Amino acid sequence: MDSSPPGTGALARAAAHRLTGDHAAGLAAAEAAYAEAGNLIERAQAAALRTHFTFRSGNLAGVLKLADTLSPLMRAHGGEACFEYLRSVALAASELGRIDVALPYAMEVHALAEADGGDTVRAQALMALAACFERMGDPWQAERLMRDALVLTRVSGTPRDLFIALNNVCATLIGAFYLLRGDSTRAEASAALERALPLAREMHALQPQIAERFVHVHMLGNLGEILLHVGDAEESRQLLDAALAIARELALPTQLQRVRCSLAEWALYQGQPEAALDDMRGLLSEGVVMVATQIRAHHATYMAARQLGLSALALEHLEHRTELERQRAVQQLRAQSEQFITRVEAEQSRHEADRARQRANEMEQHALRDQLTGIGNRREVAERLPRLLAEAEAARSPLALAMLDLDHFKQINDRFGHLVGDQVLVTVAQMLRERLRGTDLLARTGGEEFLAVLPDATPARAREVCERIRAHMEAHDWSGIAPGLKVTVSIGLASSPPCEEAVLMARADAALYRAKAGGRNRIEGA
Ligand code: GH3
Ligand code: MG
Ligand code: MG
Repeated sequence: MDSSPPGTGALARAAAHRLTGDHAAGLAAAEAAYAEAGNLIERAQAAALRTHFTFRSGNLAGVLKLADTLSPLMRAHGGEACFEYLRSVALAASELGRIDVALPYAMEVHALAEADGGDTVRAQALMALAACFERMGDPWQAERLMRDALVLTRVSGTPRDLFIALNNVCATLIGAFYLLRGDSTRAEASAALERALPLAREMHALQPQIAERFVHVHMLGNLGEILLHVGDAEESRQLLDAALAIARELALPTQLQRVRCSLAEWALYQGQPEAALDDMRGLLSEGVVMVATQIRAHHATYMAARQLGLSALALEHLEHRTELERQRAVQQLRAQSEQFITRVEAEQSRHEADRARQRANEMEQHALRDQLTGIGNRREVAERLPRLLAEAEAARSPLALAMLDLDHFKQINDRFGHLVGDQVLVTVAQMLRERLRGTDLLARTGGEEFLAVLPDATPARAREVCERIRAHMEAHDWSGIAPGLKVTVSIGLASSPPCEEAVLMARADAALYRAKAGGRNRIEGA
């Protein structure tokens, strides 16, 4: 018999189970400790453990039920236990699609992390907030918040923290890919994959540092799934087979089903619709856990049936898929409406996200990539430009430098909001990347300012490239981001000789000024 005072024994047992991961025994001990608690501190500690075990054992609805009674107690208790408690509630609610509960909790978590959390805690808070946006059907905002979390994690996280952050961004981008892979948004869909690929490779490279094998399924499965859609059949197949084997061995149903969908799509890409059809029909008859996977399974079945000329079957699965997508869209729109009808809350979440982004950007200064767009930043310019200039000078080859500044960008933000502004920046970066060579240097040097350095480009060629960029931006249909949106760019050009950074920059800057003064949406300089 335990001789310690009432409560302490059960509480100590529950805390011990937390370390061993025995959720059932831990929950029983935590419930006993809660009932026996002699004071508020013990009661709050027991409450935190009850929530922990309920969450970890996958009883998400149970977590929400606990929240009804435990939240005031936990808030009064405060500290780390309260943070973890609030975060569990936020994650459980968002997983259940209860954004009305999840978002206020996530914002509270975020405020606490801001007030006195370290990097890891702040990263966790950002990911909880990101999960809400993802659930609301906004992968763009989710991606940005998750990237902020990733930056914080890179600074001070363990390999496991880094894995979680990378996995979250990848999963969001893969989700965005499936959302966007229709005819009209194909380019945006492949851009999402391109952003995901380096992160998935980085995550895969962490494999030797993490022993838990269920983590490997995510590493192999995500990279395999991305490579599948970018068309690297061989590597993708190897990774997916490896993921499948581990998911089978560890009996991880949701992962297993996801990988099977990927393999079916693999077969489809390889012109083997029979194999895809067989496995997908088997999968659907077994019952698919996640809605996103259900949608994929119906999609693959539809595609396979179509390739085989089985029109009735194809139609049936197309209808299934469409209906699931419609239900999801309705749920997301409802969540958005419920949340955003309260303007104040929306403003606050944006404000908090902005502050987090600002801090993340500060921390990013040692990195070479721009957080938002994934292209280079000022640091990359400082690092690479002197070398490009020296090489051009030594080889006596031409070099052109272009400064690009979006026109009236402030008005775009004012009229459509910052989120739209950010999406414009991401799209512009993508357009620039697509229209420049791999050897060109491209960087976001300020809010809506970009720099392109084109080695080997004569003034005429540089102007041609810039004109193509300018014209494309003007002609592009921006209504996919916001109805009525128009974006133009002014460009200042400067060409060597001399191969001197300060001179070229000053010339390009002066040319840009002339382009603005001359009415914008034009190119000046040579
Ligand atoms: P101009 O045609 O003369 O260049 O006008 P402009 O409005 O583009 O120029 P200005 O420099 O006055 O404003 C730039 C704006 O860009 C101000 C700022 O709010 C916005 N901005 C800067 N960084 C970001 C960002 O990361 N995201 C968003 N959405 N907006 C940004
Ligand atoms: Mg500017
Ligand atoms: Mg501008």
